[in-house]
Amino acid sequence: MAYSDQHLPDQQAFRTHHTALDSLFRYADFLNFGEIHIKCDHKTGLKAIIAIHNLKRGPAIGGCRLLSYPSTDDAWVDALRLAYMMSLKAAISNLPHGGAKAVIIKPYHIKNRTALLEAFAEFVHSLDGRYITAVDSGTFLSDMDIIAKKTPYVTCTTISGAEGDPSLPTALGVRRSIEAAVKFKLGQDNLTGIHIAIQGAGHVGFHLAKELTQLGAHLTMCDIDEIVLKRCVDTFGVDTCAPDDIYDLKADVFSPCALGSVLNHKTIQRLQVKIVAGSANSQLAHHHHGFLLQEKGILYAPDFVINAGGLIYAASIYDHFDPLKAIDQVNQIYETSMMIFERAEKEKIATSEIAEQIAFSRLR
Ligand code: NAD
Repeated sequence: MAYSDQHLPDQQAFRTHHTALDSLFRYADFLNFGEIHIKCDHKTGLKAIIAIHNLKRGPAIGGCRLLSYPSTDDAWVDALRLAYMMSLKAAISNLPHGGAKAVIIKPYHIKNRTALLEAFAEFVHSLDGRYITAVDSGTFLSDMDIIAKKTPYVTCTTISGAEGDPSLPTALGVRRSIEAAVKFKLGQDNLTGIHIAIQGAGHVGFHLAKELTQLGAHLTMCDIDEIVLKRCVDTFGVDTCAPDDIYDLKADVFSPCALGSVLNHKTIQRLQVKIVAGSANSQLAHHHHGFLLQEKGILYAPDFVINAGGLIYAASIYDHFDPLKAIDQVNQIYETSMMIFERAEKEKIATSEIAEQIAFSRLR
């Protein structure tokens, strides 16, 4: 067998690959991208994607995920979907940044994490500042410190002089939006006695539980990880339920803080709450589920509006703004949410639609 025969993929494999690339371009075109970069580094096992959705408002910013994916297709779909969402988030928050996302496909066995991250840092650096990376699922502040040794295009490090963990300001933004929603929908000025069902007791879920219990809310939480759930029970005395029962819980607010696509035809029919407001990205499985929530009389606080606290904070550290001013801006998520609720009611359309209209108008 000739050398080339051994190493070239067979016809079928090529066709399959070709179809995947075709659909990538179609999806990218549909979302109006942008740039998509890939890098493979045999030495470290790095396989990474950087998706830059939009640079109109400034250099694009977005976290770097380091996760296992069922397939490469799942990885790039995740990168594109989230980069698009970051553009909307930066625009609605009036930040001088575009949206982007990086995905490192987690190798089966990471031989040397530092070397892997350094190779990724070189990848980031090669884009000349068009992409600024940050912490995300599967990466830590200490990882950002390693990246910062190779490129300045990184935020959320421990060496920036500010507290780098974005999940605290994210939780603050979600709490402010819940307050606005409770005022708008239930006419109550505070959260005393308000029953909130939180899905996910991870980074944001924990900090959100802290904020909400301090304000007198009654919490029921769930998580598939019993250890993190127990931490919330022990620290804040919250009630718990089984992960799947959270959709049927009679409460005032449902707060998805775990996964995307949790609001779909099946779950929306089960919801017995008046408000949905949580940190998870891409909560609506499909655009029209925003309208379904509206039809059911459930006030939906659009995810990319209310979970922007971490981005606002991370961008402010990168831009050397005063972190306290960033916190002021996160607090304004109350006013932004209220404005969206009022407009949606007046124009009789879904809150998600209003939020997208505002973000798109700022991207033009
Ligand atoms: P995390 O990974 O720390 O926490 C997520 C938690 O959800 C985990 O404890 C996990 O066990 C749990 N979980 C997974 N599947 C579940 C299920 N079916 N039912 C119940 N719990 C389940 O993540 P995080 O940083 O807390 O972020 C939470 C969500 O908010 C994610 O969707 C993330 O993308 C989004 N978000 C986070 C930030 C941030 O600053 N951390 C910013 C914007 C958006």
